[in-house]
Amino acid sequence: MTNSHAARDIDTSRPHSARMYDYYLGGKDHFEIDKHAAEAVASVYPGIFVCARENRAFMHRATRVLAREHGIRQWLDIGTGIPTEPNLHQVAQSVVADARVVYADNDPLVLKYAERLMRSTAEGRTAYIEADVNDPRSLLDAPELTDVLDMKRPVALSLNALMHFVPDDRDPYGIVSRLLDVLPSGSALALSHCTPDFDAPTWQKVADIYNGAGTPVQFRSRADVARFFDGLELLEPGVQVGHRWRPDAEPTATDAEVSLWTAVGIKP
Ligand code: SAH
Repeated sequence: MTNSHAARDIDTSRPHSARMYDYYLGGKDHFEIDKHAAEAVASVYPGIFVCARENRAFMHRATRVLAREHGIRQWLDIGTGIPTEPNLHQVAQSVVADARVVYADNDPLVLKYAERLMRSTAEGRTAYIEADVNDPRSLLDAPELTDVLDMKRPVALSLNALMHFVPDDRDPYGIVSRLLDVLPSGSALALSHCTPDFDAPTWQKVADIYNGAGTPVQFRSRADVARFFDGLELLEPGVQVGHRWRPDAEPTATDAEVSLWTAVGIKP
């Protein structure tokens, strides 16, 4: 990856969700325009920093549970985000050294830093695909995918804080089922999703900021998030607010601050 590629493709004329998320997490890989939009979100919803941290923490716990209790050794993580330690493969490989992870995102800035996602254990493997979840076929056809993942063995599909960027007119439920269709029995779906359920007026303002900045969003209710798991067997405790999904410690944040529905399901 050369810098000229990055310079050509990285659009700094408008804020981008991956770089705004990096700001919420206290990262350094964003531009002034992203910080500005992220601060506009924080001014209407100060809980955004807690939400981002809890979202990340859910990914860590879900990954460990799948590795430890469900024999998962392979992950397909779509909407990876700008690398933030520990990345999914580091969490998975801390449980099973030979874990294999394929990452995918459509933001060229994530591609620019993708080498950070390639620091795998010697026993395991990782790959990065620049792909749009709205085109699941080309994502699944990417040679890197089958190069790293054995599609005859269970794969955990990880869609963390991604599907609220796929509004209903893009057929989000169809997309997730097309991805799950190619995975064998014993595979998993781990998903987190922002919700207006605990404070609808605030989340309308957050949606207005993203939509106004050219990033369509659709925050969904618990029932609409549960629909992504149709046909799967939900692990305990089912669809829960992020910080209440198998917490390591007694949750301290409020549900309204976290405002994320999270769940893990297994394909029968
Ligand atoms: N999964 C990470 C990052 C979430 S931020 C985590 O939970 O910590 C959302 C990410 O989804 C951003 O990196 C953004 O670039 C990516 N994204 C948004 N729309 C996408 C699309 N249509 N296809 C692929 N990735 C997308």
